[in-house]
Amino acid sequence: MTNIPNILLIYTGGTIGMVKHHKSNALRAFNFDQITQKIPELKLLNCNIQTISFITPIDSSNMDTKYWVQIAEIVESYYDQMDGFVILSGTDTMSYTSSAISFMFENLNKPIIFTGSQLPIGDLRTDAKENLITAIQIASTFKNGKPVISEVCLYFEYKLYRANRTTKISAEQFDAFHSPNFPQLGESGVHLNFNKRVLKEIVQKKKLIVRKNVDANIVILKLFPGIQENVVQCILDIKNLQGVILETYGAGNAPTSKWFIDLLQSAIKKNIPIVNVTQCISGSVNLGHYETSSQLKRIGLIDGRDITTESAVAKLIYLIGVNIPKGDLKKIFETSLRGEME
Ligand code: ASP
Repeated sequence: MTNIPNILLIYTGGTIGMVKHHKSNALRAFNFDQITQKIPELKLLNCNIQTISFITPIDSSNMDTKYWVQIAEIVESYYDQMDGFVILSGTDTMSYTSSAISFMFENLNKPIIFTGSQLPIGDLRTDAKENLITAIQIASTFKNGKPVISEVCLYFEYKLYRANRTTKISAEQFDAFHSPNFPQLGESGVHLNFNKRVLKEIVQKKKLIVRKNVDANIVILKLFPGIQENVVQCILDIKNLQGVILETYGAGNAPTSKWFIDLLQSAIKKNIPIVNVTQCISGSVNLGHYETSSQLKRIGLIDGRDITTESAVAKLIYLIGVNIPKGDLKKIFETSLRGEME
C-alpha cells in the first residue's frame, strides 16, 4: 500500500443513484457522476477514490449472473492497483450478489464492501451518505500496513456484516439487513469498531483465484402445507435442472409422504443435488433430529446447516459452474468455503 489507500468505487445501480422520473414518478437509475457531485465530503476522506460505473446502471431486481461476472472482472482487473473496493448496488438482491462475489474470489486479501441505500442520495433524509462514506472508510482501514478487512462484506446502517451471512429483512427501515446466524464484523458509532474475534485473517502468499463460470440452472423449492405431487414432480423434471435449494420447515423437516421422498430420491439419483435449508430466519438445519428429516438424510440431501437461502443459491450456482465431479459436490457444499456456514 502507498501512504494513502487507493479505493475503487464501483456503481452497479440501485436506489442510491436513482431519481424520480418526472412523468411516472417511478425511481430509475441516473448517471453515476452525479453521485460524487452529491457528496463533496468524499474529497475529505483520507484515500484516493477512483470510480467506475456500469454503462447502464441497473435496478438490482434485474441482477443476473452475467452482472456477477462483470463485477468480478472489474475487481479482478484493478486488484493489484487498488487497496480496497466499495461496490454500490441496489439492496433488493445485494445479499445474493455479495454472497456470489465472496465465493468467486478465493484467497481474497483485500476488502470488498457492498453498500447501497433505501433512499436516493439526493433525498433530504437519505441514508446514502452515511452508508457510502463509512463503507469507504472501512475499505481504507489499515493496521500495520495490512487491511483490517480482507473479505466480502456488506455495510448498512452503521453495521458491518459478512456478506454471505446477510439477508434483506425490510423494505421500509433504514436498518434493512440482518445477519441472523453470525455476529456483526463491526459497528460504526463515535468510533469505527471491528469485532476482531470473527474477522477473516489474511491468507498469506496464496494467489488470488477468481472463478467466473457460473451456472444458474437451479431452482428454489419452498415447502408449504398442501404442496402437491404434480407440482414437485414438474419442478424436479425441469429440463437441464442442475440443482435444487429445498426450503424446509424448522430444523430441516419435510413431509414423510412416500411420493415426496421418492421424487427427491430419483432426482438425487439423476445427479441433481438437493440442498436442505430452513425457512426459518435464524437457526440451523439439524438432519435426523426429527423423524421428518431422517429420510432426507438417508437419501442424500445436502445439509445446508445455518446457511441463508441467498448464500445457498450463490454457492450452488458457483459450485455447479466450477464443474467439480458430481460425487464431490455434497462434501464440498457441506464445507464452509468463505465463512458462510458454521
Ligand atoms: N429496487 C432497488 C434495487 O434493488 C432498491 C434499492 O436499491 O434499495 O435496485
